[in-house]
Amino acid sequence: MSADRTGDYDALYRNYIAALHEVDHLSTLREIALAINTSLELEEILPTIADVVHGALDVNRITLYETDLRAQIAMPLVAKFGRDLISRERLAEEEVRPERHPIRDALETRMPMVLTTADHSALYIPLIAKGIPLGALHLEDPSDGEFKSENTPLYQTIGSMIAIAINNAQLYALAVTDGLTKLYVRRYFDLRMKEEFDQAQRYARDFSLLMFDIDHFKKFNDTHGHQTGDMVLQQFAQLLKDNTRKSDICCRYGGEEMCVILPETNLEEATRLAEKLCQTIRTTGFKGTNQPLLSVTSTIGVAAYTEDFANTTEMVAAADQALYKAKEGGRNQVQVASSSE
Ligand code: GH3
Ligand code: MG
Ligand code: MG
Repeated sequence: MSADRTGDYDALYRNYIAALHEVDHLSTLREIALAINTSLELEEILPTIADVVHGALDVNRITLYETDLRAQIAMPLVAKFGRDLISRERLAEEEVRPERHPIRDALETRMPMVLTTADHSALYIPLIAKGIPLGALHLEDPSDGEFKSENTPLYQTIGSMIAIAINNAQLYALAVTDGLTKLYVRRYFDLRMKEEFDQAQRYARDFSLLMFDIDHFKKFNDTHGHQTGDMVLQQFAQLLKDNTRKSDICCRYGGEEMCVILPETNLEEATRLAEKLCQTIRTTGFKGTNQPLLSVTSTIGVAAYTEDFANTTEMVAAADQALYKAKEGGRNQVQVASSSE
């Protein structure tokens, strides 16, 4: 065989191996892209990222860090170590100050960094979306030995895909969250009501709605100041979140009116919860700008889904009517919508 021929075969073989790597990289990227596109909620997407990248790159450990804008502090948000997914709470002590940390270098150079020693291999992938640094991935010890610099384009693509997914989830959270109370905004309430209503209609499922209106809040503001009023609204919102289930949807309907959508909850259960909340609100001391703690009360209208409602507007109107009646009845109480309304 001539020397030329051998050269041809060698080149062909190298191309073949390179093509295999390409295919491998593309399927890794596809796996990650599919997984991170399943949700817009940050709380869901972060563990998904840790899980899927851990598996796709077959590493021993991955940690996802969030950095502040100047990359002075990197906070671990989630990690996967072996088979264990580790939450933010359990990682709190692993905060790093990246002044002289590879995370800082990766963010400054905007390039993935591979650091390999005799018995250890680490990879730092910067997460940058639209030019803004969000954080970094820190991966350790792949099963095939070490991270390879020639895989830099793959690591870069993984970094930008994940950064965009995180940025989208952050923008979504901003769009659906009320700035003062951190409850969902009215538009989100309308969307979720429609979803629950459709489900209830189609599958004969229970769901209920609580509508809150703080009593004499205008007078409260006049007496204690608008700033204290704002603080009370924030604590009121937190009280709703603390006393409902994770699956319940707490929203700011407008001003000092708030709503809770209760999936899988019938009228009796919803009324019991409303009574309990009415009492908790009544007995809670709210912090204002000055001592002492202050009291507010709330009036609550309850409506449960029935087939009599043609659409969400009718169901919301029923809760609103019940609320209005309870205001007329003296406030600081719960009123249930009658199904004939
Ligand atoms: P009622 O018992 O009939 O509900 O009386 P009310 O005074 O609460 O009712 P009204 O709807 O007349 O007034 C609502 C008040 O809520 C007026 C407004 O200043 C206050 N409010 C609405 N949004 C905010 C807010 O974001 N911050 C503060 N501090 N007050 C707010
Ligand atoms: Mg009102
Ligand atoms: Mg009011």
